[in-house]
Amino acid sequence: MTAFSAADLRQMLSRLRDVMAGMGSVQERLDKLVALIAQGLKADVCSCYIMRAGEVLELFATFGLSQSAVHNTRLRVGEGLVGEIAAHARSISLADAWSHPAFVYRPETGEDFFRSLMGVPMIQAGRVMGVLAVQTRDERPFNDWAIETLETVAMVIAELTTAAHIVKREELFPAEGNALLPVRLSGVALNPGLGLGQAVMHKSHVRIGRLVSDDPAVERSRLQSALAALRRDVDALIWSSHGDSAGFSDILEVYRMFADDRGWISRIGDAIDTGLTAEAAVQKVSDDTRVRMLQMNDPVFRERLQDLDDLANRLLSILAGGGMRTELPENAILVCRTLGPTELLDYDRRKIKGLIMEEGSPTMHAVVVAKALDIPVLAQVQGALARIDAFDLLALDASAGHVFLRPSEDLQDMFTANAEVRQRQKAAYAASKDLPSITRDGVAIELQVNAGFLIDVQALHEAGAAGVGLFRTEMQFLAMPVLPDVKSQQALYRQVIDAANGKPVTFRTLDVGGDKIAASWTGGKEDNPAMGWRSVRLTLDRPSVMRQQLRAIIMASEAKPLRVMFPMIATIAEFDDSRRILDLEIEGHLKRGGVAPIGIAVGTMIEVPSLLWQLDQLLPRVDFVSIGSNDLVQFIFAADRGNTRIANRYDVLSAPVLRMLRYIAGKCQMAGKPLSLCGEMAGRPLEALALIALGYRTLSMSPAAVGPIRDLVRKTILSDAESFFQSLLNSAASSLRPEIKSFAYDHGLVRET
Ligand code: PEP
Ligand code: MG
Repeated sequence: MTAFSAADLRQMLSRLRDVMAGMGSVQERLDKLVALIAQGLKADVCSCYIMRAGEVLELFATFGLSQSAVHNTRLRVGEGLVGEIAAHARSISLADAWSHPAFVYRPETGEDFFRSLMGVPMIQAGRVMGVLAVQTRDERPFNDWAIETLETVAMVIAELTTAAHIVKREELFPAEGNALLPVRLSGVALNPGLGLGQAVMHKSHVRIGRLVSDDPAVERSRLQSALAALRRDVDALIWSSHGDSAGFSDILEVYRMFADDRGWISRIGDAIDTGLTAEAAVQKVSDDTRVRMLQMNDPVFRERLQDLDDLANRLLSILAGGGMRTELPENAILVCRTLGPTELLDYDRRKIKGLIMEEGSPTMHAVVVAKALDIPVLAQVQGALARIDAFDLLALDASAGHVFLRPSEDLQDMFTANAEVRQRQKAAYAASKDLPSITRDGVAIELQVNAGFLIDVQALHEAGAAGVGLFRTEMQFLAMPVLPDVKSQQALYRQVIDAANGKPVTFRTLDVGGDKIAASWTGGKEDNPAMGWRSVRLTLDRPSVMRQQLRAIIMASEAKPLRVMFPMIATIAEFDDSRRILDLEIEGHLKRGGVAPIGIAVGTMIEVPSLLWQLDQLLPRVDFVSIGSNDLVQFIFAADRGNTRIANRYDVLSAPVLRMLRYIAGKCQMAGKPLSLCGEMAGRPLEALALIALGYRTLSMSPAAVGPIRDLVRKTILSDAESFFQSLLNSAASSLRPEIKSFAYDHGLVRET
């Protein structure tokens, strides 16, 4: 197999194409394909497994194994090596498969004689829809080129089997009762709100007509023209979004950088050279990237791959000569597996009343855009695509985390009435945005916003917040192979400062994790990224990254206040080293004739518990501190913040956390150092009540939370809350939530829901 060349691959692909285009049933053609692949790769066996209902892989065709096993051998996803490949969407190659712990022996296949195995997932539209495996009698190591070859072939077969509708969509999901009954599906609310409208099934996948090319040169030139059209497309979107009050031009700028990414483009070029058409090459590279990224632990980074999918889809659509725009009914609820921001922007925004996704996470760009456009979003809705049909009437209650399919008339009426109430509430928050955030006994609580995009900074004004308490600089750059240069960073930070319009902005230096930025940049996967080489640990080890970022922030802050804070500081030395780099950069900036910032404030986040026992040494060195409770609490309870299985196991509203928070507040007060808290808890009413009662006077939260928290602050008599929380601090209960909730209701601070 080592002797296999690019020309061999081209030849095999062209034979596969002939078989696919030839006569015969899908089964007959699949039988021929597996034989061809085995022959082409000089293997003894080639088998094709297809995913059936209930996550079961069925042997659909084989060359080399017993024919009686076809349609009889079934493996669950995760079972055996083939099941492992499907479960992790990851290729496996083993010279001696029998010694692998996951190996399961299926006597009916007659595979007694085959030692080595190389298997790859068959991926279509980002989903594993089967596994293609080859085996040999001798113990044969397979090299990377062999795996690449099989992956390319698998993609071609995946297209064929999907186009032939071997497995019907309904078959993939168990039938349940009468299809016309109203159904409720649940998910995770990523942007609260209500929406009533007709389902529009978003189709991002462009069907590829031709997979195998005759002339790579022609395909390369088609790719170049399509890339040029793609850049024009994105430029036009950026241009039109400049005038948009929601302002997502920054997100689209990131896109433009992608569209120019040489690594991406050259990988597509390489795939063309193996004999694929331009569109098949784009698809292959995007599938490969998806598979690689899905293996990463960090959900934030995994969601960034959506951006790449979005771009690839756009490119595919250009290559296919099709337009992207779909006409919407007056009230439309988009239903999709996942969605890119430019795909969302392609629709007529005024008509979209909701977004339902089978996947999705809070940090994905499409959600950021949806929030800016005030579109309710329900994500991680299992079975949405199977259960919802186009034009179904949907009643989406994203706040409560569910959607009703084909709601009754009563339910529709309730929805309409409820939507009006919420609209009024929103209007009330908007109208009170300029009211002071002061407790009834006269204590001012400063409310700031957390931001990661320009949109959030703009929302700060709509919310009437006092500034940006946390600007997460990494958000813009997560999907990039390398950081943008100083100039591009400076331009972005300047836009942020300008958008804040005189209100303070606290920039946090890069908080990228071991796998939050491309592996090529950080050097690979880690077992425990949240506690790994991330944040300042990484930027201190790569001082040029830290220096360039600080230089960009300093240059953007000319003649403006400069506020910088460092994340994940665990030792005093880490803070001192970071600060030294900042000081050197300021010095350099001035020496180069740059204008000085007006006032410099340097702070640290408290996210690592070790700092709690170093506050006496830390506080004299800093100008302010901000508690990153998302991380701090995950480390205090040793409970991964992204793991839903333990999400409700520990409560921040419990004595250990409240006592810790009070301790930090006391220390900061004694040292006279400003303190804020910028974790998610700051934006939740009961938690915010606890914080102000424990001495916190500055809270930074998502823009949408500012209105409700201001309302809460203005209703609170702080002295009452202080004595109440004092009485809770010695409790042994694992959650104090019920007591705190009762207190809040009894005092009219929050509404009963
Ligand atoms: C935190 O950890 O609370 C925090 C604000 O930082 P991030 O959520 O970006 O890790
Ligand atoms: Mg953090």
